[in-house]
Amino acid sequence: MSHIANTNLTQAQLDAHWMAYTGNRQFKKDPRIITAASGHYYTDADGRQIFDGLSGLWTCGLGHSVPAINEAVANQVKTLDYSPAFQFGHEKSFQLAEKITEFMPAGLNRVFFTGSGSESVDTALKVARAYWRKKGMGTKTKFIGRAKGYHGAGISGFSVGGIPANRVLYGQGLEAYHLPHTQVPGTEFSKGMADTGKERAEDLLNMIAMHDASNIAAVIVEPMSGSAGVIVPPKGYLQRLREICDQHNILLIFDEVITAFGRMGAQSGSEAFGVTPDIITMAKQVTNGVIPMGAAVFKQEIYDTFMDTGGADYMLEIPHGYTYSAHPIACAAGLASLETIRSQGLIERVKQMSPIWENYVHSLKGASDAITDIRNYGFAAGISLAAVDGEAAKRPFQIAMSMWDKGYYVRYGGDTIQLAPPFTTEETEMSSLIDALGESIKKFS
Ligand code: PLP
Repeated sequence: MSHIANTNLTQAQLDAHWMAYTGNRQFKKDPRIITAASGHYYTDADGRQIFDGLSGLWTCGLGHSVPAINEAVANQVKTLDYSPAFQFGHEKSFQLAEKITEFMPAGLNRVFFTGSGSESVDTALKVARAYWRKKGMGTKTKFIGRAKGYHGAGISGFSVGGIPANRVLYGQGLEAYHLPHTQVPGTEFSKGMADTGKERAEDLLNMIAMHDASNIAAVIVEPMSGSAGVIVPPKGYLQRLREICDQHNILLIFDEVITAFGRMGAQSGSEAFGVTPDIITMAKQVTNGVIPMGAAVFKQEIYDTFMDTGGADYMLEIPHGYTYSAHPIACAAGLASLETIRSQGLIERVKQMSPIWENYVHSLKGASDAITDIRNYGFAAGISLAAVDGEAAKRPFQIAMSMWDKGYYVRYGGDTIQLAPPFTTEETEMSSLIDALGESIKKFS
């Protein structure tokens, strides 16, 4: 049987896997197979070392094969490999819940575990609707998302999400409307938060005028949009959303699947940008990507509303949850991951090193006419590229492939290249990543 170069794979095996968010036909012609990972580097099937320029999928801020996490997972699988998620518990879920709240803004202290970011978003949206129903305001069912937002691949996530390519195929979703995104002309190449663009929050007032607050359950935004290519909130924008939601009795949800636990050089996006929502969704960094896990964290009043109206205490206060909610192995990985972030002072490190990262990323300005914008915050950056022959996605793909050939993994999505190096990245690694990216961009300009 013939195998694909340097792998144990047959063509039939390659064909059998319908890969997620992947150009399957292109990949299967030219597979990029990863065989191992350690620290900041992957090993590919050719034995090459490849720098992880997106920390997995924004997941592995601590790098790969972190001894404390590996040990915690190995011990857990030997001790308690699974525990029923409904009606029975195990200690680590309660310990992890409390640990998560230590990273959250004051008042967000009730944690519901899920298996992914998409499930966390689903949980937040369901709870938002049920909350209003419990309060006797059952007409509050509509949601407001934002253009270019990404909230996962579920039916609810794509409904509130605003990346057109993720929506067009799927028909009717939940009733949701979208605020404009905050990539405001004239703010290109801003470092960190742009000075203008806050006014785009005022569109929420138009939506309230159109739909009435009595019909709107929640506004959901990523404090910093990740998948759209690192769109950083303009100064004052999130504060204004908060004000309007408060004035109109609408819940505010921050989807922090990317921004929670250090990526912003803060415990959360909420802390970085100084705005506290009612609900925060998270996933990815909670276990350093080692085991799937997500969570939605609620302010106590939301939790209490369900407890107070739950009927007899043996009845479910909310009929919601997943077989893998609070999976013991994920909880063990989560505790080890969050303890490592703390004990190694990684949030502070990201904060201190962010200006250095910012300088490297913005040094690409002017390297090529193809670069139309560069954005950054914390250890994240997005580079927008001009379309080639009307095809926005082509150049980012070409650049990312050229980077892979050179030994760097970067994400390409829409018209952007996205970067999010591990929290422990050294300045020399930043410098070589950006040099290589500059060369690759020039090659396709
Ligand atoms: N929300 C945000 C902000 C995300 O970035 C993502 C994934 O990238 C999700 C939700 C979905 O998470 P998952 O892919 O774990 O379902």
